[in-house]
Amino acid sequence: MKRRTTVALLSCLVAVAVGLAAWLLRKPAPAYLQRVQFAIVSGDPLRYDHSQFHWRSGGERIRVGQEIADGRGIAFSKNAELQATPRHTGKSIIFFPYAIMPFPKRSICVTIVLRKQGQETTLRTFNVKKKTSGYFSAVVQLTRGDTIIVKTAGQGILIAGQAVIAGVIDPKRRQYVFVVAPDTFRGDRVEKRGHMALNFPNLEEFARDAVVFKNAVAPSSWTLPSFASVFSGQYEFRHQVTPHSPLSLNKPHLLASLRPRFATVQFNDGVWLSAKMGLARNHDCFLTSSWVKDIYADRCLFANAWNFLEANPFPALFMFLHTYKLHSPFEPGEEFLAALGPEHRKRSMGTYANEAQFNSNVPDSERREMEELYDAEVLQFDHFFGGFIRYLKRAGIYEQSLIVLISDHGEEFSEHGGWFHGHSLYREIYHVPFFIKFPNKLYAGQRYREFVSLCDVLPTVLDHLKIDCPPDIDGISLLPLIQGSRLRPRTVISSATASRFNNYLPQRFSIFSGPYQLIFNFPLPPQAHSYYQEYSQPPARPEIELYDTRSDPGEQRETSLQRKRIIDSLRPEIIRILKEIRGRRKTGERTGPLLDEEEDVLRSLGYL
Ligand SMILES: [Zn+2]
Repeated sequence: MKRRTTVALLSCLVAVAVGLAAWLLRKPAPAYLQRVQFAIVSGDPLRYDHSQFHWRSGGERIRVGQEIADGRGIAFSKNAELQATPRHTGKSIIFFPYAIMPFPKRSICVTIVLRKQGQETTLRTFNVKKKTSGYFSAVVQLTRGDTIIVKTAGQGILIAGQAVIAGVIDPKRRQYVFVVAPDTFRGDRVEKRGHMALNFPNLEEFARDAVVFKNAVAPSSWTLPSFASVFSGQYEFRHQVTPHSPLSLNKPHLLASLRPRFATVQFNDGVWLSAKMGLARNHDCFLTSSWVKDIYADRCLFANAWNFLEANPFPALFMFLHTYKLHSPFEPGEEFLAALGPEHRKRSMGTYANEAQFNSNVPDSERREMEELYDAEVLQFDHFFGGFIRYLKRAGIYEQSLIVLISDHGEEFSEHGGWFHGHSLYREIYHVPFFIKFPNKLYAGQRYREFVSLCDVLPTVLDHLKIDCPPDIDGISLLPLIQGSRLRPRTVISSATASRFNNYLPQRFSIFSGPYQLIFNFPLPPQAHSYYQEYSQPPARPEIELYDTRSDPGEQRETSLQRKRIIDSLRPEIIRILKEIRGRRKTGERTGPLLDEEEDVLRSLGYL
């Protein structure tokens, strides 16, 4: 009896120990991370109410001493001093972004100091002669009452972002989330190995560790609206980001939910990914490369990322990595071109990225050549992406890292008589990769055919981290699906309405429901008719196209089977989207009037 009690007690203790261990393993890194706002303690402030700087929010003006999004800015005539006092003590990383602009023909000397019990230690001194932005980072031992001081001498503007102060912990206990987002990456490349049946071994190996969504839909057909959807969780016709209108401060931003626990960093190749467009919000560090035109832009990106990782031991880090490497012009490095065979050496393909060529006919041989060069670019990306993954493994942080691979849209190679992207919503454009490698290869190898959206990426990441999403987003967490539940029926949408790459292109949106894809085409805008006298006009499309993606994933022939029934069942959704588009214009979220073609369509549907 006594023996039985002992065994029961022991097994109970073991169960408690196992439970405790599991709980400890699940527990995120301790909340060592804090952000401290700098205070302006001295200076000779100038009245200066405008700035060329687009700090974190896009279009935000800097006023003297004003607290701006995630930072503090001052325009000064002689000198200024900003101070921040961390609450955290012990071995810590101090990190803050800054932007500095000397006034014309002036320079500014910046000194960053750590003051401990009245003793000042200079951490860094540098001179700035032209508008510049960057970040400061150092690992120091902090005690209570220590102060970080930024001193400037000169005349100009200084903005210091909130300082991130975080305890330095063992690499094995750190949390990492990486979102790798090569621009213009067609979703079919990993499956079909491209036009040349090349092997992409690193992508294939990564896919084995990951959950793969085989029907991931880009929310739009080009860069700016698509990435705005990734960060806002809203569809293009809801966030309404256009080249003339940044992401509004009233819109949700999913990194705001992540920030209390994670330092947030982005490296990108710029152009549309910019602070000016509001996409830098909620980033502790938002750095745009100077190598966008470099043939080895992907190598530069990953080298930059691992240099950053080595120098900045945050306990929890979110890192977003973007490159235009796969975007035209297609110029693979020599060694990747060689993989195509000797006849391809020393070739490169200029961009087809102008509106004149969206719809032009290109000889078959040229089309093939372009596609082969694109595949060589994918081969190159595969090589450097593989190098980054191996680096994470060598650094001992791959296992615990959550790594997402996505893209913002694909690329057309004449599947529907066009080139490039931004002009249509067919599979070659909307279908993008969406892989998630969870920590410890959780769920590795699972594959899903459901249509999912890039709006779902960050909600899924947040759900895994047990962080709540903001309300009013279109994306959902896919974690329940991954864990074995069925998704409740939903439509997934891709669109080019508020934000068209080219205003002479018709607006359109695409609804994915079950196995069907419905494309709603607005008429060609009236101003486009004269424009297209010079260029080949986009092919005429009916108002509604309907495809069955099971039998015709490449949308080569419209389905006639039960067409009326399916369109009727989706009509409420069409009306809802049209109402959204119209409603936002009406409520003044955009100053532009209702476009003629929108008005015509709404009238034809009896809505006006
Ligand atoms: Zn893009």
